[in-house]
Amino acid sequence: MVRFTVLASGSKGNSTVVTGGRTRILVDAGLSCRELFRRMKLAGEEPETLDAILITHEHTDHINGLAVTARKLGIPVYFTEGTHRAWMRWLTPRRQMTYAQWLEQCRRQAAERQAEADAGELSAAGEPDEEETVTGPSCDAPEAVSPDPVSPEMARLAAETLIEDLQAEAESAAELPAGAANEDRVPSRKEDPTWLPCVEYFAAGEPFEIGDIAISPFTIPHDAADPVGFVFRVEGVRMASATDLGYVPPNVKAQLKGLDLLLIESNHDLEMLRDGPYPWSVKQRVLSRVGHLSNEAAADFLQNGYDGQAAYVILAHLSESNNLPELARVTAERALNGYASLLANRLLLAEQHQPLESIYF
Ligand SMILES: [Zn+2]
Ligand SMILES: [Zn+2]
Repeated sequence: MVRFTVLASGSKGNSTVVTGGRTRILVDAGLSCRELFRRMKLAGEEPETLDAILITHEHTDHINGLAVTARKLGIPVYFTEGTHRAWMRWLTPRRQMTYAQWLEQCRRQAAERQAEADAGELSAAGEPDEEETVTGPSCDAPEAVSPDPVSPEMARLAAETLIEDLQAEAESAAELPAGAANEDRVPSRKEDPTWLPCVEYFAAGEPFEIGDIAISPFTIPHDAADPVGFVFRVEGVRMASATDLGYVPPNVKAQLKGLDLLLIESNHDLEMLRDGPYPWSVKQRVLSRVGHLSNEAAADFLQNGYDGQAAYVILAHLSESNNLPELARVTAERALNGYASLLANRLLLAEQHQPLESIYF
């Protein structure tokens, strides 16, 4: 049995469960662990049976509940190396300091290095063959803390999710029996926020398998470190997920053919975005070639770049501020009109606040 369940879709969290054969994969973990589990149960999926978590990119709406969920279930997380590094940077906040403090830190570090070098010289005395190494002062400049332009609402949501997860982790730590073996204890988020039970790397363009599910990751144009979409193949069924992309380039079009299920972004209505509440810089980002697909762009792809074969087309990542479900639906319906088949292209809309009914093959 093959099953595809969208648990949540939109700028406040994205997550989907793909099941086939004996394998169950969570694609993105953009909700808190608690909410992910609640929705999985609501959709009739058992969280404890998940085999792995697969991550598309490091934006908060895709990774918010990742660490706690992976730790709780003790399952591997599959990333590209670039995404894993970006995620670790996101979780390891850098200390903010003024320029004067930074200079002072550089001086102190240089002095420490000099002192170490002097000590080394003393201990190495009598060994003239030792190669002389010069260690000049080199400090890393302080970095900006949050590279991702996010709306205040998204930032608030990310903070809320983290707090919720921290509370959950604290609660489960409190449940440990007194005197539980120390070495078995999983590091808490506070000790090492980037700790995961197991990390596996994959690369865009290089298919791989998790259990019974074959996965083809492909590069998408989006403002993240190394973002990808996926095609899943299991029991002869092909399903694709392509959200968070500024446009549909040829490599993505090539992947989205011969599908049984297509989940594609229909993020915003162009007019609503232009007249909407986002600051101009965020509007520019969303509209850019590394932003998000508009209803119009998704419809253009459905009409001109897609083969019309999928039994199901799911519109996803709809903006709550800059889109209306009916606008997205009508625009896509118009585009799909030309494909004369009663059995194909059943149009569904993924939702932010509740799971979409599971699709079975
Ligand atoms: Zn994104
Ligand atoms: Zn997103």
